[in-house]
Amino acid sequence: MAHGMSRNSDYQAQWARVRGRMREEFGEAAFRSWLRQMTLVGVEENRVRIAVGTRFLRDWAVQHYADRLRALWNAENPAITAVEIVVAGTSASAAAAEPEAPPPPREADPGPDEKDISASLDPRFTFENFIVGKPNELAHAAARRVAESAVSPQRSVPYNPLFLYGGVGLGKTHLMHAIAWSIRLQQPSRKVIYLSAEKFMYQFIRALRFKDTMAFKEQFRSVDVLMIDDVQFISGKDSTQEEFFHTFNALVDQNRQIIISADKSPSDLEGMEERMRSRLGWGLVADLHPTTYELRLGILQAKAEQMKSQVPAKVLEFLAHKITSNVRELEGALNRISAHTQLTGRFVTLEGAQEVLHDLLRANDRRVTIDEIQKRVAEHYNIRLADMHSARRARAVARPRQVAMFLCKQLTPRSLPEIGRKFGGRDHTTVMHAVRRIEELRGNDRTLAEDIELLRRMLET
Ligand code: ADP
Ligand code: MG
Repeated sequence: MAHGMSRNSDYQAQWARVRGRMREEFGEAAFRSWLRQMTLVGVEENRVRIAVGTRFLRDWAVQHYADRLRALWNAENPAITAVEIVVAGTSASAAAAEPEAPPPPREADPGPDEKDISASLDPRFTFENFIVGKPNELAHAAARRVAESAVSPQRSVPYNPLFLYGGVGLGKTHLMHAIAWSIRLQQPSRKVIYLSAEKFMYQFIRALRFKDTMAFKEQFRSVDVLMIDDVQFISGKDSTQEEFFHTFNALVDQNRQIIISADKSPSDLEGMEERMRSRLGWGLVADLHPTTYELRLGILQAKAEQMKSQVPAKVLEFLAHKITSNVRELEGALNRISAHTQLTGRFVTLEGAQEVLHDLLRANDRRVTIDEIQKRVAEHYNIRLADMHSARRARAVARPRQVAMFLCKQLTPRSLPEIGRKFGGRDHTTVMHAVRRIEELRGNDRTLAEDIELLRRMLET
């Protein structure tokens, strides 16, 4: 079958299915507050364009949903390999020209024939925008030091390599970009390459395929500063590891600065050869610790000011207190609050913030388990715990079971199939049905709605 041009109605049907999948995966709350507002506005060759109402929504969508949207579209229609999220009312070119809001570079698809191997740098990731606190002060100081040291062939670089590690969203990429920006500004003659370990692998494998490893090596030979982000992804791939090792050694021998990030310390990098692991730990190893309340509040205050968004101090304190997982989520929460303020034209109160962020807050709350939910619900309805798993369909046990499934979907990060398995090996469609059913009933049945509210409170405290 020739896969010719799809018609507009085909795309709309595909979009409807993509949305359906997103709804299942991200849940009702996310669907109502974000996904429902997205509209398909165009398709050009391999790229679909989706519009949202405001810049905040756009940034939020890019950060949280773009990857998944792309994957789902691609599954629906293999010809689609890119998804662009724009602000409604701006055409693609207008959006690109919008000066304050360039599309985040991490979204940019490098494309196969890109000349410069270095990935683009996020303009927001500068030292000026990095808030320093106890948990990141060592990493920050080391990054500054590396960025500011003027290197000559006679003077050796301060730490080689500088190895930054820490959990997701704690600022590793931000610091690396900040180093690169700073060097570009102050020592423009130094050649800096920043790329993800994945891209390094991709480039290398491509070079192998086109028998062009000479050119690949050449690119690195002339580099003064090489930064490779998320190096844990290099593990396991033998030939790339080998190449990485050689590149690394050659550059260190020539007194070039190398900066590496990973989610673990060098010695904990699994699937990495022993000699590589020990080599990576030779310079300075600096870890980014989980954030403290003070740091989170500092970051929020700085971002709110930057965004010129009017969020009451009480709300910022509340966010810093509640959203503890990582800075990316913290930013996401602030963006959402700001979007809400913009959309409604009113300041957000503390209650308002809780409402707007209820799904995020829940995810950061104490983790409720499926077992706990089943136990509580069984107690509440006075049925046997075993009936949560049993095949009995009598209303007296079937309804509580549905309530339990509903609460599992709401209160835990578990997927529908996972939930199904915990309920006596039921299919995920059964769980989905239960969730929808309870949602419907809850609207008309006061008692049921109160039961659920009561159970939820009990489970969450
Ligand atoms: P990582 O690479 O460690 O997963 P990122 O560097 O991508 O994390 O940081 C995630 C988000 O949090 C980015 O938007 C970044 O700007 C922000 N961020 C992290 N730490 C700080 C900080 N100390 N000050 C300001 N922003 C921060
Ligand atoms: Mg990163």
